[in-house]
Amino acid sequence: MSSSQPGTARPVVLKFGGSSLADLDKVRAVARVVAARAERQPVVVVVSAMGATTRELLARAEALTDTPTPRELDMLLSTGERASMALVALAIGARGVPVVSLTGSQCGIITDHRHGNARVLEVRPYRLLDELADGRVVVVGGFSGVSYRRDVTTIGRGGSDTTAVALAAALDADCEIYSDVDGVYSADPSVVPGARRFDAIDADTMLALSRAGARVLHAQAVALAAERGIALYARRADGRGGQTEIRTNPAHAAPAVRAVATANPVHTVTVRAAGGWATRLPVIGRLGLSFVRAREDTLFALWMPGRTSDPASERAAITALAHESGVEVTVGPARGLVSIIAPRAEQTPEFFEALAAASAAVGVRLEELVTDARTVGAVVPSDLTKALAAAVHERVAVPASACGRFPTDPA
Ligand code: ASP
Ligand code: MG
Repeated sequence: MSSSQPGTARPVVLKFGGSSLADLDKVRAVARVVAARAERQPVVVVVSAMGATTRELLARAEALTDTPTPRELDMLLSTGERASMALVALAIGARGVPVVSLTGSQCGIITDHRHGNARVLEVRPYRLLDELADGRVVVVGGFSGVSYRRDVTTIGRGGSDTTAVALAAALDADCEIYSDVDGVYSADPSVVPGARRFDAIDADTMLALSRAGARVLHAQAVALAAERGIALYARRADGRGGQTEIRTNPAHAAPAVRAVATANPVHTVTVRAAGGWATRLPVIGRLGLSFVRAREDTLFALWMPGRTSDPASERAAITALAHESGVEVTVGPARGLVSIIAPRAEQTPEFFEALAAASAAVGVRLEELVTDARTVGAVVPSDLTKALAAAVHERVAVPASACGRFPTDPA
């Protein structure tokens, strides 16, 4: 259905990241974009906390105690998005556009009660729908929800993406994610200068990228979009450059791309359980480990800290295992992970050859290999992550057909 009447057109969810809201001029610029959009269709805006607010709030809590209570931490961190949503709503209102701000809780975002890394369970968007029906732009503070116990929860660092997708799913809307990068690149452009932007990527490859540590989109957001068939578009907030469509519907319409993901730091984790790993399964599931492999009495995994809003209890949860009888946990020193991400990665000998050639060229010893359907990665010393990523990227050709023009390319 198409209509020029905002009241009857399909709604859209626009999400703006913290760097796009870092100061009041940027807040005004976002308000300008939103106001223009609201002339055409109902708009829900999801905002992150301004600039480095979340990190600063976390630092203040950690200055008071080494072991902040996860519940209070969530109460504290959720204020970053609350300030941001009120300021963005004021800026939109200043342009004469009817607007209201709502918290995640007011939008009916219900999560489990795992403070710091909660999962969205359901959305009851009644208030949101009422406000849209009344012709208002709704500005929602991302990153937080409410548990069945009515405690404020946060859904992991970078979680505002997930708020946006959850609301888009509830409204059957498209979802546009605005940041300071104009889409998804074949590698983190700040790590590999030659990285190229993809015009489109399928959701499963995108999910593998997030899982291997690429911070471009929140993994829970990509998974939810794939599950619910929500199309995602990653763009630059200032409108410059191109975009990447994360295709979920149908995902196979996207070209097969190859990318290099980097994660830094990662830690190798070894768990030794006297009675065998199988006796420890319930607790293993709660640790938030990646690429888990176990054999007899030993389990190997990777741990990527900083995924939750609660780094202190993240580490505590892992070491707590050590206190269980018969279990010995070793968390290795900080390392880097460089991964080739592509469909059928594990079944592509060329990727293993590329990794070997790149490691020889850089002179880095590969300490551990991790693979899955879309991932071939290696753990290496942190300080060599960047060099290895560049060398791997150079060898793993990115099909030009999948790539868009650079923002700096001549028109
Ligand atoms: N402000 C939160 C963070 O920095 C959530 C977000 O930005 O999406 O992790
Ligand atoms: Mg942020």
